[in-house]
Amino acid sequence: MPTRPLRAAEETADPASSTDHPPLVYSQPPRVRLLSDILPDDPLLMMGAGPVPIPDVVAHANSVVINHLGATMSTIISQVKQMAGYVFQTKSEWVLGVAGPGSAAMEMAICNLVSPGSKVLCVVNGFFSARMAEMSRRLDADVVTLDVEGNQAASAQQVEQAIEQHRPDVLTIVQGETSNTVFNRELPAIARAAKKRGCLVVVDAVCTLSTMPLQMDDWQIDAVITGGQKGLSSIPGVSLIAFSNDAWEHISRRKTPNTHWVLDARLAENFWHKGSYHYTAPVSGVLALHEALRLVCAETLPVRFARHSRSSFALQNGIEAMGLRLFAPPASRLNSVVGITVPEGLTNTGICAHISERYRVEISGSFGLPIVRIGQMGEQCRAHNLFRTLHALGSTMRDLGAKVDMPASMATLEYSLQV
Ligand SMILES: *Cc1c(COP(=O)(O)O)cnc(C)c1O
Repeated sequence: MPTRPLRAAEETADPASSTDHPPLVYSQPPRVRLLSDILPDDPLLMMGAGPVPIPDVVAHANSVVINHLGATMSTIISQVKQMAGYVFQTKSEWVLGVAGPGSAAMEMAICNLVSPGSKVLCVVNGFFSARMAEMSRRLDADVVTLDVEGNQAASAQQVEQAIEQHRPDVLTIVQGETSNTVFNRELPAIARAAKKRGCLVVVDAVCTLSTMPLQMDDWQIDAVITGGQKGLSSIPGVSLIAFSNDAWEHISRRKTPNTHWVLDARLAENFWHKGSYHYTAPVSGVLALHEALRLVCAETLPVRFARHSRSSFALQNGIEAMGLRLFAPPASRLNSVVGITVPEGLTNTGICAHISERYRVEISGSFGLPIVRIGQMGEQCRAHNLFRTLHALGSTMRDLGAKVDMPASMATLEYSLQV
């Protein structure tokens, strides 16, 4: 083949004089800033309610593109499913990835198990558990909510009563309610009780999976969902879902077609189980998830849970020693995300902006609540991140005029990490 001076020709062509195409309606490309000018030189430490920092191997995997249907991908998928099975603590083979946020996995659980007219009981502790009720309503389900007020966890007794009263086909519940930092501690008893009455149980474990025990098979859960960017310390945008055999049977028997084509589990089975095409999987994100899961498996779940609880309790103790108040009462307090009551005279937006600009640490406000939230998920649970974050939090409070005891706080953190 003769070589053509293609590059040179392209470089010298006058974009305005090209005659092969009709003239552009919008002829001026936008002038934008370079990414390197937008991103901070000194990266922010991501200590909010997600996304969380990712390990280098995860970041590297996320930069690789491979054939989404080749033999390499097939091996990756098989390993992702095996490792996810361990993390979900299930022997069910119905583990699937989802291109999309944790909410896409949530919608996949709901739209495959709920049909028009299904009776759905939604335990609502806050913002995210309410989302499952909203998704069910949009499917024309008959939705009843059990609203648990006052930052309390749902009790098994109260949920059992609601099940007796309403006889739902599906129960939805969140393990950890990220929005107000409430932990549904009695989830095992709740799931088993629901299952005993023939109800399918959907659990949102987006912020809790791999940070604390969740035993899908033993607790008799029918669908567990998680996102990438929280406990697993992977990238946002690729999520995981596991269905039990009972759930899968329900899906296989279903007569009405799923209104969500992308989230249809029977179509997703083509890619995740049969090596064929559904939609082009986010290959790089699946590779990242593979690495994140591999790190969880290498650490092992018991060691990972211990790291999370030690880290979170140390942070909580340090916050209290500073003189600040934790938002959720101890009995219903979540470890994966720590909620702190905003001191009198300050605002959560003011605190979040100051700690970010001055100390390069990102933390979160919340959805209308007078709190700030610090995440304790995956890579956030490292001693060096705790010291920097607690110091930044205390300094921020002091800068903004709140009275805090910084030496006591830092000493308490150090001491709590030793025990
Ligand atoms: C973050 C979160 C979600 C939503 O995940 P997205 O990736 O933002 O869609 C749902 N439930 C819980 C408990 C969460 O923490």
